[in-house]
Amino acid sequence: MPGLAVVTGASSGIGAATAVRLADDGYHVVLVARRKARLESLADKIQGRVAQVDVTDRAAVRTMTDSIPSCDVLVNNAGGAFGADEVATGDPADWERMFQINVLGTLHLTQALLPKLSAGSGGTIVNITSTAASVNYETGGGYSAAKHAQHALTETLRLELCGQPVRVVEIAPGMVRTDEFALNRFRGDAARAAAVYAGVEQPLSAEDVAACVSFVVGLPGHVNVDRLVVRPLAQAAQHKVHRSAIGAAPVQQTATARSGPPGVPGCAI
Ligand code: NDP
Repeated sequence: MPGLAVVTGASSGIGAATAVRLADDGYHVVLVARRKARLESLADKIQGRVAQVDVTDRAAVRTMTDSIPSCDVLVNNAGGAFGADEVATGDPADWERMFQINVLGTLHLTQALLPKLSAGSGGTIVNITSTAASVNYETGGGYSAAKHAQHALTETLRLELCGQPVRVVEIAPGMVRTDEFALNRFRGDAARAAAVYAGVEQPLSAEDVAACVSFVVGLPGHVNVDRLVVRPLAQAAQHKVHRSAIGAAPVQQTATARSGPPGVPGCAI
């Protein structure tokens, strides 16, 4: 039976779509992110609750979670990629930021809400990682490392909670076209961000990933989807992206084009 769902990163993209989807499923949704105006506007539409919280701030997370009476579903979605540099030249500050949000943010929410999630008939934790949590690619080192760590946290938690009434699910999306993800990665360079999706007929949408969250959460309580990898039809693997219409012959590609437009990693996800 639906109850209360906490969704982090609910001010845009996958998190916003997930908040809407879970509200449609009957959940009262707590929307977590830093940009309050965006949260308020979405919360108005779905009768949700705004929690303006930076997930990297452990004390602020605790204050927020102490103020909610219960929690049935936690979606750790807040995250992102910052920079697209080789390991040799990457900025450690970007790596640190990616670890803080993707990994420690997930840790903070999980630790704070576990007592509520395991109360009564139990709950579900859904961590949004990435296909980069299992595959590496050039210029994706910091993001892949953070997503691998978030995957490790997820798998470890599932092992540690075996026998408890808490499902631990990982959803690992491939290429999803959202408004801000690639823009943030390329520090606001819209041309580079658009190039990630160049020629791809239909990347996943935020709503597609939200449908996956709804699916895994809506299954009977004894069914735990450990890991759901979801990609667009046009992306068979991290480096294999079909950049023309589905059904049409692939555009003749140079080696550079195969690995992505100039300056853009082959998948950037
Ligand atoms: P967006 O950039 O649209 O959303 C990121 C969200 O995280 C925003 O709502 C942002 O809100 C929030 N956020 C960032 N930092 C913090 C913080 N310190 N505290 C609280 N909230 C924070 O990205 P997507 O929707 O595309 O991605 C969502 C998740 O899915 C991420 O974990 C991403 O790594 C993963 N993913 C995305 C893919 C893609 O292709 N787009 C593919 C695979 C995985 P605010 O700035 O208001 O705080």
